[in-house]
Amino acid sequence: MVMQLHNTLTRQKEPLRLLDPQQKKVRLYTCGPTVYDFAHLGNFRAYLFEDLLQRHLEARSYDVDRVMNLTDVDDKTIRGARTQGIKLAEFTQRYKEAFFADCKTLRLRPARAYPAATDPENIAAMIEMIRDLIEKKHAYQAEDGSVYFRITSFADYGKLAHVDLTEQRPSGRVQSDEYEKEQIADFALWKAWTPDDGDVRWESPWGAGRPGWHIECSAMATRLLGNQIDLHCGGVDNIFPHHEAEIAQCECVTGKKFVGLWMHCAHLMVEGSKMSKSAGNFYTARELMNRGWSGRELRYALLTVHYRIPLNFTMEGLEASRQALARIDTWSERLQEFAAMDTSIQTFEKLGPIDLGDFFNALDDDLNISAALAVLFDVIRESNRLIDTKKLSPAEAGGLLQWWKKVNEVLALEPDVSVTIPDEVKMLLAARQAAREAKNWSESDRLRDEIAALGWQIKDTKNDQRLVPV
Ligand SMILES: [Zn+2]
Repeated sequence: MVMQLHNTLTRQKEPLRLLDPQQKKVRLYTCGPTVYDFAHLGNFRAYLFEDLLQRHLEARSYDVDRVMNLTDVDDKTIRGARTQGIKLAEFTQRYKEAFFADCKTLRLRPARAYPAATDPENIAAMIEMIRDLIEKKHAYQAEDGSVYFRITSFADYGKLAHVDLTEQRPSGRVQSDEYEKEQIADFALWKAWTPDDGDVRWESPWGAGRPGWHIECSAMATRLLGNQIDLHCGGVDNIFPHHEAEIAQCECVTGKKFVGLWMHCAHLMVEGSKMSKSAGNFYTARELMNRGWSGRELRYALLTVHYRIPLNFTMEGLEASRQALARIDTWSERLQEFAAMDTSIQTFEKLGPIDLGDFFNALDDDLNISAALAVLFDVIRESNRLIDTKKLSPAEAGGLLQWWKKVNEVLALEPDVSVTIPDEVKMLLAARQAAREAKNWSESDRLRDEIAALGWQIKDTKNDQRLVPV
């Protein structure tokens, strides 16, 4: 089955077409955090959707080359540093570190590169791009000293956000990085220095100043991934003006189509309303950790709603995630102990009526996580039933565990501390199972003591044995 992904540009699901199909190489750019605060749940929803995309592509043997930028200079970071009376770099460093720590907690697979906007080579690339845009008459320096992109010079402007310039009149110029579609205007590429910027300034052919947010991503994406990339992701908030501007900047410089397929993750709501600091429902990942939730519980809660459906984040939802994970853990522990009775592994494609490949097939369909999880829970139910009725062999349980391992490469939901049962204990356990089946209770008890001496407690259930480290 060919992977189908929803393209924001065409508003349709499309087969994944790559620039380099032979090598199965996927050039993927994902907009990263603005490091002026701890990343919040809405941010992490987008990063988790991108993580699922990357992991599934890798499960399908694609070679993913992902870049995620760090916006460490913009209106918000400068304001934050000034408020605290510290240097911009010192201010943003704290949030960069926190971001990477949170990514680890949430089990996000690292990108190949995390370029920061203020890296000298990136500033140089931005200046070069702006110079090129001016030369090609797509940009101009205004009386205020700043350089703006002339949106009427690019016929395709508005194609991503579906804004029609013939219907909507541009309203002059806009300095701010973020604005609504109704305020469509020439946007800033280079912002001339003002006293509010303090010591945050770089020299350029247009005088001292700093880059606009949009040019940062265009320059870093093309510098690290090339003029054309396969996939570009972000949250729906990024579509306009950020990604619209990225397309305009890149395509005017290179004359080539910038991105093959655009993917955007829907909003996150908290308890039914928009997350905001004033409403008191604003959560960062670390706040929830401090309240006793684990990274994988949060991962499950944010990952398991399809990325194009708005996610209503609730405490009940987190509680349900905890229960779902407990169910998965109990099942995988049971499988492990059962499989330990026989070290041979028998792989198979169908478990009763369930096709095991359907987990991955579901994700091929625009990352249909709900259908993929339905396959997982069907497998859990069916394999539990087969073990209960003695219709599953330990070797088949071993095969199922291999399938779970592949599934978990995509989901990353394993327990925080994974317990490995030593081979010696596995053998004793198998011997004890045989003794039990032969109703040789004294031998069974003797083996129980021997296993206990090695630090494992056995819990007998109706049909099998479970091991718990003491
Ligand atoms: Zn970006």
